[in-house]
Order: sequence, then C-alpha cells, then structure tokens
Amino acid sequence: MAFSELIGQSDAKMRLGKPLVGEPGHAFLLSGPSGIGKKTFAREFAKGLLCSHPTADGGCGTCPNCVYMREHTHPDYKELLLPSGEKNIKVADVRSRILSDVGIMSQIASRKVYLIDADGLAEEGQNALLKTLEEPPKHVVFILTVSDESKLLPTILSRTESVRLIPNTEEEVKKVLESRNPDILPEEAALYARFSNGIIGYGLDLAETSWLINDWEEVTDLILQLPSISRTELLTEVYSFFDEEKEHFLDILALMNMVFDEMAIAVVSPKSDRLQGENKKDKMVEMIRKYKLNAEMIGRCSAVLTSAAKASRVNGNFEMIVCRMLLALKKECSNG
Ligand SMILES: [Zn+2]
Repeated sequence: MAFSELIGQSDAKMRLGKPLVGEPGHAFLLSGPSGIGKKTFAREFAKGLLCSHPTADGGCGTCPNCVYMREHTHPDYKELLLPSGEKNIKVADVRSRILSDVGIMSQIASRKVYLIDADGLAEEGQNALLKTLEEPPKHVVFILTVSDESKLLPTILSRTESVRLIPNTEEEVKKVLESRNPDILPEEAALYARFSNGIIGYGLDLAETSWLINDWEEVTDLILQLPSISRTELLTEVYSFFDEEKEHFLDILALMNMVFDEMAIAVVSPKSDRLQGENKKDKMVEMIRKYKLNAEMIGRCSAVLTSAAKASRVNGNFEMIVCRMLLALKKECSNG
C-alpha cells in the first residue's frame, strides 16, 4: 500500500508526502469526519516515516521497517486508540504507553512514531500530552487523528501540523466499495455511494446492511405501479410499507427521488448507460411511453417528495403526509 493506492484525498497525500522526503515536524493532526479514513492515512504516513527509503508516495514496502509495519510488529511504532466501549483513553495509559516510552531510543528505524486517537482524549489526557508535544525528543513523531477539532485544546492545535481529509466524491466511494466487495453489483455500489455523503466508512457500513437495497427495490416497484394501482391499495398496502419504515422515511424519499431522477433521464435517452438495472429500466421506459410522461411531470413528482420531506421535518401528521404524497404522485404519473 502507498498513498497512490488510496483513493482520493489528493491534497492530504501531497501534504503528508512532502515531509517523508524532507524533514518532518514532530506532530501532525489528521482531521476529518468519522469513517473518512484518517487511521488508514495515518498508518500509511507512519510507515513512510519509519521506512529506510521513503518516497513522497509513502514507504518502499520492502525494507525491514515496511515489512514490520505490514506485519503490525514494528517496535518503534505504537498506537493509542480508544478501547471499544470506553468513553475516554485513560490518562494512566497516556503516561505509561506514550510519555514514559518517548525517551527510549528507537530500535530499528531512525525514529519512533505514535498514532493517537485524539477523539478519545479528554482534557486531562490532552494536558498530559501537552508538555511532550511542546518539546518532543528529536527522534519522535506524533500523529493525532480527530473527527471533532473543537474538542481539542487550542494549545494542542497550535503545536500540530493540521492535514484535513475531505469527503470523497460518489465515484471515489463507489470505487472503494467495488474493490472491497468484489461481488457487489455496480448499481448497488452506486446506491451505497450516493447515500454515503462521501464518507467511505459509512458507505462500507451501508453495504453490510440490507435495508437500503431492499427499500430501493420496493420503491422502484412502487413507482412503476403508481399508474395502475387502485387508490384503496395505495392507501392501505403501500401506506403500510411507509409506516413500517417510518424511521427511514427521509431516506426512502431520497430513494424515490433517485428513481424519478432516473426516469427523467429515461424520458430523454431511454438507452442511457446511466440507467441501472436492466429489468427495471425496460419497465420504466414502458411506463413513460404508455402514460406519456414528460420531464415536467417527473419534475412535479420530485417537488411532491420535497414538500413531504419538509412536512415531516416539522413533525406533521405522518399518515396524512404519506397519503397526500402518494395520491399526488399517482395523479402525476397517471397523467391526470
Ligand atoms: Zn520501506
């Protein structure tokens, strides 16, 4: 693994790559939302810092330092992470695992590297670390990761070089999903990527659950049925689906919006590669033809979804919001 094998984050790669071929500072802070890949980048950076022949792309991958890092056995590299189920890293651990260790010389590499999950450091833990961050031994580099910078003392912030990781594009998240799950269908990966908000970790979590994909199929079928379904069925069976999935209501609206977006593409170019799912694509094109749907009507369907989302955010009566929405959608899709 090298920086170039990690997807996206060109700015962070550049800023972490430079110190590897120059004279690195003693403390770096990697910030960015939870799930964005801070630890992955931090470990890659640490490998580069310990490597005997680093380039701006990270460690060489073959020297003893890189081999030890890959095997998680490098004696000059330590991680202090928040133990699962705990709220904070214990100050005693900061002292015993970091502060009393920094004075000991490195064994193999020319320096020692510490990765610290600063989200786990309460004020007391940060204070314990502060003096060492202020005057670190020459052979030591700290890499702190944090998702909420506002929880760090200004004195910690001012003593670290900050590198920010930013949300990835949908396309980048999709690439990661496909590389980690070789069996995933392209349309599934696209769906998870779209819902990930650019956070790779969240996209991977979504891919582990089934509700999103199930609901997507359900709403696609529902929209395809809109012109032909009876009002009674709409207000009973279809309504009960929404009622069961109440907690995901806004996500379902977003899914429906995706289907209408696809439909808008299908109106203009029925053979577009951007349309997903062969079987559904044909049905969609058929529905558009049969009911003479145009872009304007589909635009009005999206507007119906937007007002339903708004109404639910202000806590309107759920049943009324859903029924009104379903009837309005049916009206638009049945061409009057
Ligand atoms: Zn190396």
